[in-house]
Amino acid sequence: ATRAMLRAFSRRTFCSSRHLSTLVLAEHEGGSLKPQSFSAIKAASSLGENNHVSMLLAGSGSSLQQAAAHAASCHPSISQVLLADSDRFIHSLAEPWAKLVHLVQQKGRYSHIVAASSSFGKNILPRAAALLDVSPITDVTGISESRLFVRPIYAGNALCTVRYTGSVPCMLTVRPASFPVESMSADSKSNAAPVEHVDLSSFGEDGVGKSRYISQSSQVSERPDLGNARVVITGGRALKNADNFKLIEKLAERLGAAVGATRAAVDAGFVPNDLQVGQTGKIVAPELYMAFGVSGAIQHLAGMRDSKVIVAVNKDSDAPIFQVADYGLVGDLFDVIPELLEKLPEK
Ligand code: FAD
Repeated sequence: ATRAMLRAFSRRTFCSSRHLSTLVLAEHEGGSLKPQSFSAIKAASSLGENNHVSMLLAGSGSSLQQAAAHAASCHPSISQVLLADSDRFIHSLAEPWAKLVHLVQQKGRYSHIVAASSSFGKNILPRAAALLDVSPITDVTGISESRLFVRPIYAGNALCTVRYTGSVPCMLTVRPASFPVESMSADSKSNAAPVEHVDLSSFGEDGVGKSRYISQSSQVSERPDLGNARVVITGGRALKNADNFKLIEKLAERLGAAVGATRAAVDAGFVPNDLQVGQTGKIVAPELYMAFGVSGAIQHLAGMRDSKVIVAVNKDSDAPIFQVADYGLVGDLFDVIPELLEKLPEK
Protein backbone atom coordinates (compact mmCIF):
# COMPACT_ATOMS: atom_id res chain seq x y z
CA ALA A 1 0.00 0.00 0.00
CA THR A 2 2.87 2.35 0.84
CA ARG A 3 4.52 1.55 -2.46
CA ALA A 4 1.25 2.23 -4.35
CA MET A 5 0.87 5.52 -2.49
CA LEU A 6 4.41 6.55 -3.31
CA ARG A 7 3.92 5.58 -6.93
CA ALA A 8 0.71 7.62 -7.15
CA PHE A 9 2.47 10.53 -5.46
CA SER A 10 5.46 10.38 -7.79
CA ARG A 11 3.14 10.21 -10.79
CA ARG A 12 1.17 13.20 -9.55
CA THR A 13 4.30 15.21 -8.92
CA PHE A 14 5.64 14.18 -12.27
CA CYS A 15 2.57 15.01 -14.30
CA SER A 16 2.37 18.53 -13.03
CA SER A 17 4.19 20.70 -15.53
CA ARG A 18 5.16 22.97 -12.63
CA HIS A 19 7.56 20.29 -11.47
CA LEU A 20 9.35 19.65 -14.71
CA SER A 21 13.09 19.87 -14.42
CA THR A 22 15.34 18.47 -17.10
CA LEU A 23 19.00 17.63 -17.22
CA VAL A 24 20.51 17.73 -20.72
CA LEU A 25 23.74 15.77 -21.20
CA ALA A 26 25.79 17.88 -23.58
CA GLU A 27 28.73 17.20 -25.87
CA HIS A 28 31.33 19.78 -26.66
CA GLU A 29 34.36 20.06 -28.87
CA GLY A 30 36.90 22.82 -29.33
CA GLY A 31 35.14 25.08 -26.83
CA SER A 32 31.67 24.87 -28.41
CA LEU A 33 28.62 22.71 -27.97
CA LYS A 34 28.08 20.14 -30.70
CA PRO A 35 24.99 20.69 -32.91
CA GLN A 36 23.30 17.54 -31.62
CA SER A 37 23.29 19.01 -28.10
CA PHE A 38 21.20 21.91 -29.42
CA SER A 39 18.67 19.35 -30.62
CA ALA A 40 18.64 17.80 -27.14
CA ILE A 41 17.95 21.28 -25.68
CA LYS A 42 15.15 21.78 -28.19
CA ALA A 43 13.62 18.44 -27.20
CA ALA A 44 14.00 19.29 -23.50
CA SER A 45 12.22 22.60 -23.97
CA SER A 46 9.31 20.88 -25.68
CA LEU A 47 8.61 18.62 -22.67
CA GLY A 48 6.33 21.25 -21.18
CA GLU A 49 6.07 24.75 -19.87
CA ASN A 50 7.87 25.92 -16.75
CA ASN A 51 10.58 23.39 -17.35
CA HIS A 52 13.79 24.15 -15.51
CA VAL A 53 16.48 22.99 -17.96
CA SER A 54 19.99 22.37 -16.67
CA MET A 55 22.85 21.36 -18.88
CA LEU A 56 25.61 19.03 -17.75
CA LEU A 57 29.03 19.48 -19.33
CA ALA A 58 32.12 17.53 -18.38
CA GLY A 59 35.76 17.64 -19.33
CA SER A 60 38.67 19.75 -18.28
CA GLY A 61 40.76 22.77 -19.17
CA SER A 62 40.06 25.88 -21.17
CA SER A 63 37.98 24.10 -23.79
CA LEU A 64 35.48 23.12 -21.07
CA GLN A 65 35.36 26.69 -19.76
CA GLN A 66 34.70 28.05 -23.26
CA ALA A 67 32.03 25.42 -23.87
CA ALA A 68 30.41 26.38 -20.54
CA ALA A 69 30.27 30.03 -21.58
CA HIS A 70 28.81 28.96 -24.92
CA ALA A 71 26.22 26.73 -23.21
CA ALA A 72 25.25 29.40 -20.70
CA SER A 73 24.43 31.94 -23.36
CA CYS A 74 23.20 29.84 -26.23
CA HIS A 75 19.53 29.29 -25.48
CA PRO A 76 16.84 31.05 -23.46
CA SER A 77 15.63 27.70 -22.06
CA ILE A 78 18.89 26.96 -20.26
CA SER A 79 18.43 27.89 -16.60
CA GLN A 80 21.71 26.55 -15.32
CA VAL A 81 24.96 24.99 -16.53
CA LEU A 82 26.56 22.29 -14.39
CA LEU A 83 30.25 21.79 -14.91
CA ALA A 84 32.14 18.63 -13.98
CA ASP A 85 35.77 19.60 -14.30
CA SER A 86 38.05 16.60 -14.10
CA ASP A 87 40.52 14.71 -16.30
CA ARG A 88 38.40 11.58 -15.94
CA PHE A 89 35.78 13.07 -18.28
CA ILE A 90 38.08 14.17 -21.09
CA HIS A 91 37.31 11.22 -23.35
CA SER A 92 33.59 10.81 -22.59
CA LEU A 93 33.93 7.20 -21.49
CA ALA A 94 30.61 5.69 -20.49
CA GLU A 95 31.51 4.49 -17.00
CA PRO A 96 32.67 7.75 -15.38
CA TRP A 97 30.02 9.75 -17.25
CA ALA A 98 27.22 7.41 -16.13
CA LYS A 99 28.49 7.66 -12.57
CA LEU A 100 28.50 11.44 -12.92
CA VAL A 101 24.89 11.47 -14.13
CA HIS A 102 23.94 9.30 -11.16
CA LEU A 103 25.70 11.69 -8.77
CA VAL A 104 24.10 14.79 -10.30
CA GLN A 105 20.65 13.16 -10.26
CA GLN A 106 20.97 12.33 -6.54
CA LYS A 107 21.28 16.02 -5.85
CA GLY A 108 19.10 17.56 -8.57
CA ARG A 109 16.20 15.05 -8.62
CA TYR A 110 15.40 15.94 -12.23
CA SER A 111 12.13 14.73 -13.69
CA HIS A 112 13.81 14.10 -17.08
CA ILE A 113 17.30 13.41 -18.38
CA VAL A 114 17.81 13.96 -22.11
CA ALA A 115 20.68 13.29 -24.50
CA ALA A 116 20.95 13.21 -28.28
CA SER A 117 20.93 9.75 -29.94
CA SER A 118 24.54 10.21 -30.95
CA SER A 119 27.37 7.78 -30.17
CA PHE A 120 27.86 9.81 -26.98
CA GLY A 121 24.23 9.63 -25.85
CA LYS A 122 23.75 6.01 -26.88
CA ASN A 123 26.87 5.08 -24.95
CA ILE A 124 26.15 6.93 -21.74
CA LEU A 125 22.42 7.21 -21.18
CA PRO A 126 21.51 3.49 -20.95
CA ARG A 127 24.34 2.88 -18.48
CA ALA A 128 23.26 5.86 -16.38
CA ALA A 129 19.66 4.58 -16.55
CA ALA A 130 20.79 1.22 -15.21
CA LEU A 131 22.53 2.94 -12.29
CA LEU A 132 19.33 4.90 -11.61
CA ASP A 133 17.20 1.77 -12.03
CA VAL A 134 14.90 3.16 -14.72
CA SER A 135 14.14 2.13 -18.28
CA PRO A 136 15.31 4.64 -20.89
CA ILE A 137 13.24 5.50 -23.96
CA THR A 138 15.55 5.68 -26.94
CA ASP A 139 15.46 7.32 -30.37
CA VAL A 140 12.55 9.60 -29.58
CA THR A 141 11.31 11.46 -32.67
CA GLY A 142 8.35 13.29 -31.17
CA ILE A 143 7.21 14.58 -27.78
CA SER A 144 3.46 14.90 -27.18
CA GLU A 145 3.49 15.40 -23.42
CA SER A 146 6.05 15.17 -20.69
CA ARG A 147 5.52 11.41 -20.52
CA LEU A 148 4.22 10.65 -24.02
CA PHE A 149 6.70 10.06 -26.81
CA VAL A 150 6.88 8.84 -30.39
CA ARG A 151 9.69 6.56 -31.53
CA PRO A 152 10.21 4.47 -34.66
CA ILE A 153 10.12 0.68 -34.54
CA TYR A 154 10.72 -2.05 -37.14
CA ALA A 155 13.54 -0.06 -38.74
CA GLY A 156 11.36 3.01 -39.10
CA ASN A 157 8.45 1.21 -40.77
CA ALA A 158 6.09 1.96 -37.90
CA LEU A 159 5.86 4.68 -35.31
CA CYS A 160 5.13 3.71 -31.77
CA THR A 161 3.59 6.04 -29.18
CA VAL A 162 5.01 5.25 -25.77
CA ARG A 163 3.77 6.40 -22.38
CA TYR A 164 6.43 6.36 -19.71
CA THR A 165 5.02 4.82 -16.56
CA GLY A 166 8.25 4.28 -14.67
CA SER A 167 9.66 6.26 -11.81
CA VAL A 168 11.63 9.49 -11.91
CA PRO A 169 13.76 10.32 -13.82
CA CYS A 170 12.34 9.71 -17.28
CA MET A 171 15.42 9.23 -19.46
CA LEU A 172 15.38 9.85 -23.20
CA THR A 173 17.66 9.84 -26.18
CA VAL A 174 16.29 12.00 -28.98
CA ARG A 175 17.06 11.87 -32.69
CA PRO A 176 18.71 15.14 -33.71
CA ALA A 177 17.12 14.95 -37.18
CA SER A 178 13.67 15.14 -35.53
CA PHE A 179 14.54 18.23 -33.47
CA PRO A 180 16.32 20.35 -36.06
CA VAL A 181 17.92 23.58 -34.96
CA GLU A 182 18.55 26.34 -37.47
CA SER A 183 21.38 28.01 -35.63
CA MET A 184 22.12 28.67 -32.03
CA SER A 185 25.12 30.81 -31.64
CA ALA A 186 26.28 32.09 -28.30
CA ASP A 187 24.85 35.48 -27.37
CA SER A 188 21.41 34.67 -28.78
CA LYS A 189 20.54 35.26 -25.14
CA SER A 190 21.50 38.39 -23.30
CA ASN A 191 21.58 36.99 -19.76
CA ALA A 192 23.97 34.10 -19.34
CA ALA A 193 22.68 31.23 -17.18
CA PRO A 194 24.65 30.64 -13.98
CA VAL A 195 27.46 28.11 -14.18
CA GLU A 196 27.84 25.85 -11.15
CA HIS A 197 30.63 23.35 -10.47
CA VAL A 198 29.58 19.81 -9.63
CA ASP A 199 31.03 18.71 -6.31
CA LEU A 200 33.04 15.63 -7.23
CA SER A 201 34.39 14.95 -3.72
CA SER A 202 32.12 11.91 -3.35
CA PHE A 203 32.88 10.59 -6.84
CA GLY A 204 35.18 7.95 -5.39
CA GLU A 205 37.89 5.94 -7.07
CA ASP A 206 38.52 6.14 -10.75
CA GLY A 207 38.52 2.36 -10.94
CA VAL A 208 34.93 2.26 -12.20
CA GLY A 209 35.96 1.71 -15.76
CA LYS A 210 35.71 -1.41 -17.82
CA SER A 211 36.77 0.61 -20.85
CA ARG A 212 39.96 2.51 -21.49
CA TYR A 213 40.65 5.34 -23.91
CA ILE A 214 43.19 4.37 -26.57
CA SER A 215 42.93 6.83 -29.43
CA GLN A 216 40.56 8.79 -31.59
CA SER A 217 40.73 9.21 -35.32
CA SER A 218 38.45 11.55 -37.18
CA GLN A 219 38.12 12.66 -40.75
CA VAL A 220 38.94 16.28 -41.34
CA SER A 221 36.61 17.51 -44.04
CA GLU A 222 35.42 20.83 -45.31
CA ARG A 223 32.10 19.32 -46.21
CA PRO A 224 29.15 19.75 -43.84
CA ASP A 225 28.58 17.15 -41.16
CA LEU A 226 26.44 14.29 -42.45
CA GLY A 227 24.09 14.41 -39.44
CA ASN A 228 23.20 18.10 -39.91
CA ALA A 229 23.68 18.77 -43.63
CA ARG A 230 20.86 20.38 -45.62
CA VAL A 231 21.80 18.31 -48.68
CA VAL A 232 23.15 14.74 -48.69
CA ILE A 233 24.48 12.94 -51.78
CA THR A 234 24.68 9.18 -51.29
CA GLY A 235 26.36 6.54 -53.37
CA GLY A 236 25.74 2.81 -53.33
CA ARG A 237 27.45 -0.38 -54.43
CA ALA A 238 26.86 0.59 -58.06
CA LEU A 239 29.82 2.97 -57.86
CA LYS A 240 32.00 -0.17 -58.02
CA ASN A 241 35.16 1.24 -56.42
CA ALA A 242 36.64 4.05 -54.33
CA ASP A 243 37.92 5.85 -57.39
CA ASN A 244 34.47 6.04 -58.98
CA PHE A 245 33.02 7.16 -55.65
CA LYS A 246 34.90 10.43 -56.19
CA LEU A 247 32.09 11.29 -58.64
CA ILE A 248 29.73 11.44 -55.64
CA GLU A 249 32.24 13.57 -53.73
CA LYS A 250 32.60 15.96 -56.67
CA LEU A 251 28.86 16.40 -56.94
CA ALA A 252 28.61 16.93 -53.17
CA GLU A 253 31.30 19.58 -53.34
CA ARG A 254 29.49 21.36 -56.15
CA LEU A 255 26.25 21.40 -54.10
CA GLY A 256 27.83 22.12 -50.72
CA ALA A 257 26.46 18.78 -49.57
CA ALA A 258 27.54 16.00 -47.22
CA VAL A 259 28.46 12.60 -48.62
CA GLY A 260 26.61 9.48 -47.54
CA ALA A 261 27.00 5.83 -48.45
CA THR A 262 25.14 2.55 -48.19
CA ARG A 263 26.49 -0.24 -46.07
CA ALA A 264 27.36 -2.17 -49.22
CA ALA A 265 29.56 0.74 -50.36
CA VAL A 266 31.17 0.98 -46.93
CA ASP A 267 31.74 -2.77 -46.64
CA ALA A 268 33.33 -2.79 -50.08
CA GLY A 269 35.80 -0.17 -48.80
CA PHE A 270 34.77 2.71 -51.10
CA VAL A 271 34.43 5.10 -48.12
CA PRO A 272 34.91 4.99 -44.33
CA ASN A 273 32.03 3.72 -42.21
CA ASP A 274 31.24 7.08 -40.60
CA LEU A 275 29.52 7.93 -43.90
CA GLN A 276 27.07 5.05 -43.66
CA VAL A 277 23.41 6.04 -43.67
CA GLY A 278 20.84 3.64 -42.32
CA GLN A 279 19.69 1.49 -39.47
CA THR A 280 23.24 0.73 -38.39
CA GLY A 281 24.64 4.03 -39.62
CA LYS A 282 23.59 7.67 -39.33
CA ILE A 283 19.96 8.80 -39.34
CA VAL A 284 19.57 11.86 -41.54
CA ALA A 285 16.64 14.07 -42.56
CA PRO A 286 18.07 16.72 -44.88
CA GLU A 287 16.07 19.02 -47.10
CA LEU A 288 17.40 17.17 -50.15
CA TYR A 289 18.65 13.56 -50.28
CA MET A 290 20.05 12.30 -53.58
CA ALA A 291 20.70 8.56 -53.91
CA PHE A 292 22.81 7.23 -56.79
CA GLY A 293 22.95 3.50 -57.42
CA VAL A 294 21.19 2.71 -54.16
CA SER A 295 18.65 -0.13 -54.23
CA GLY A 296 16.64 1.16 -51.25
CA ALA A 297 16.96 -1.76 -48.84
CA ILE A 298 14.78 -1.39 -45.75
CA GLN A 299 17.86 -0.90 -43.55
CA HIS A 300 19.00 1.99 -45.73
CA LEU A 301 15.54 3.61 -45.84
CA ALA A 302 15.50 3.53 -42.02
CA GLY A 303 18.23 6.17 -42.08
CA MET A 304 16.89 8.59 -44.72
CA ARG A 305 13.16 8.18 -45.31
CA ASP A 306 12.36 11.34 -43.29
CA SER A 307 14.31 13.49 -45.76
CA LYS A 308 12.14 16.33 -47.11
CA VAL A 309 12.83 15.69 -50.82
CA ILE A 310 14.30 12.40 -52.07
CA VAL A 311 15.83 12.04 -55.52
CA ALA A 312 16.87 8.62 -56.78
CA VAL A 313 18.88 7.59 -59.82
CA ASN A 314 18.93 3.89 -60.56
CA LYS A 315 19.27 1.69 -63.64
CA ASP A 316 16.51 -0.61 -62.44
CA SER A 317 13.01 0.88 -62.68
CA ASP A 318 11.81 -1.65 -60.07
CA ALA A 319 14.36 -0.63 -57.45
CA PRO A 320 12.57 -0.12 -54.08
CA ILE A 321 14.20 3.30 -53.64
CA PHE A 322 11.70 4.63 -56.21
CA GLN A 323 8.87 3.87 -53.76
CA VAL A 324 10.11 6.54 -51.37
CA ALA A 325 11.55 8.95 -53.96
CA ASP A 326 9.84 12.23 -54.78
CA TYR A 327 11.80 12.40 -58.05
CA GLY A 328 13.14 9.30 -59.76
CA LEU A 329 15.33 8.92 -62.81
CA VAL A 330 15.87 5.53 -64.43
CA GLY A 331 19.35 5.83 -65.80
CA ASP A 332 23.01 5.03 -65.49
CA LEU A 333 24.71 7.08 -62.80
CA PHE A 334 27.91 7.10 -64.85
CA ASP A 335 26.00 9.13 -67.48
CA VAL A 336 23.82 11.15 -65.11
CA ILE A 337 26.46 12.47 -62.68
CA PRO A 338 28.86 13.80 -65.35
CA GLU A 339 25.89 15.46 -67.05
CA LEU A 340 24.84 17.04 -63.76
CA LEU A 341 28.39 18.23 -63.12
CA GLU A 342 28.50 19.77 -66.56
CA LYS A 343 25.23 21.63 -66.05
CA LEU A 344 25.68 22.76 -62.45
CA PRO A 345 27.55 26.02 -62.05
CA GLU A 346 31.05 25.90 -60.48
CA LYS A 347 30.96 26.80 -56.80
P1 FAD B 1 22.65 -2.95 -53.84
O1 FAD B 1 21.50 -3.46 -53.06
O2 FAD B 1 23.55 -3.94 -54.49
O3 FAD B 1 22.05 -1.98 -54.92
C1 FAD B 1 22.76 -1.39 -55.93
C2 FAD B 1 21.77 -0.65 -56.82
O4 FAD B 1 22.46 0.07 -57.81
C3 FAD B 1 20.80 -1.57 -57.55
O5 FAD B 1 19.46 -1.14 -57.30
C4 FAD B 1 21.15 -1.42 -59.03
O6 FAD B 1 20.02 -1.45 -59.87
C5 FAD B 1 21.75 -0.04 -59.04
N1 FAD B 1 22.75 0.16 -60.09
C6 FAD B 1 23.75 -0.69 -60.49
N2 FAD B 1 24.52 -0.09 -61.42
C7 FAD B 1 24.01 1.15 -61.64
C8 FAD B 1 24.37 2.24 -62.45
N3 FAD B 1 25.43 2.18 -63.25
N4 FAD B 1 23.62 3.37 -62.41
C9 FAD B 1 22.52 3.46 -61.61
N5 FAD B 1 22.14 2.45 -60.79
C10 FAD B 1 22.87 1.32 -60.80
N6 FAD B 1 22.46 -0.84 -45.50
C11 FAD B 1 22.60 0.49 -45.42
O7 FAD B 1 22.71 1.18 -46.43
N7 FAD B 1 22.66 1.09 -44.20
C12 FAD B 1 22.55 0.42 -43.03
O8 FAD B 1 22.63 1.02 -41.95
C13 FAD B 1 22.36 -0.99 -43.08
N8 FAD B 1 22.23 -1.71 -41.97
C14 FAD B 1 21.99 -3.05 -42.07
C15 FAD B 1 21.75 -3.80 -40.92
C16 FAD B 1 21.48 -5.14 -41.01
C17 FAD B 1 21.22 -5.90 -39.75
C18 FAD B 1 21.45 -5.77 -42.28
C19 FAD B 1 21.15 -7.23 -42.38
C20 FAD B 1 21.71 -5.06 -43.42
C21 FAD B 1 21.98 -3.69 -43.34
N9 FAD B 1 22.20 -2.93 -44.48
C22 FAD B 1 22.35 -1.59 -44.38
C23 FAD B 1 22.40 -3.56 -45.79
C24 FAD B 1 21.20 -3.51 -46.71
O9 FAD B 1 20.38 -4.63 -46.47
C25 FAD B 1 21.62 -3.54 -48.19
O10 FAD B 1 22.40 -4.68 -48.42
C26 FAD B 1 22.40 -2.32 -48.65
O11 FAD B 1 21.75 -1.13 -48.25
C27 FAD B 1 22.54 -2.34 -50.16
O12 FAD B 1 23.36 -1.31 -50.58
P2 FAD B 1 23.28 -0.76 -52.08
O13 FAD B 1 21.92 -0.21 -52.32
O14 FAD B 1 24.46 0.12 -52.26
O15 FAD B 1 23.59 -2.05 -52.95
